[in-house]
Amino acid sequence: MKKKLEDYTEEEWEQICTHCGKCCLIKLQDEDSGEIYYTDVVCQYFDNENCLCRVYKQRCELVPECIKLTKDNVDKISWMPDSCAYRRLVENRPQAKKTTIKNRCISEKLVKEEELEDHIVDWEDL
Ligand code: SF4
Ligand code: SF4
Repeated sequence: MKKKLEDYTEEEWEQICTHCGKCCLIKLQDEDSGEIYYTDVVCQYFDNENCLCRVYKQRCELVPECIKLTKDNVDKISWMPDSCAYRRLVENRPQAKKTTIKNRCISEKLVKEEELEDHIVDWEDL
């Protein structure tokens, strides 16, 4: 029988993340259509070497757009990457082959805001 979301302990919930880093990519939203576009620019706190957040415990304070994914909100965040392990779990889809953004992105510290649009990328494994 499939395990229900509420049956996951906090620790088990944390372990679902595959550390692909895809949710840490900067996204742009079309003001008119609302469509979300992913860039290849990543949050300044992303540790490319280990594909991990360097400020995990304080992430929501340091980066207001960084939403803590919980059992309650996971099905309400429409922009999560299609391959995200949480998204697939909630949508009852098999897990995707793991790929990460390691060495495929650039830190936001190195990109000017007005240049972000030039970094929109069609990630085929998003
Ligand atoms: S604060 Fe950490 S978890 Fe949040 S987007 Fe940045 S690197 Fe990712
Ligand atoms: S996209 Fe999902 S699986 Fe990948 S790092 Fe983010 S929360 Fe974890």
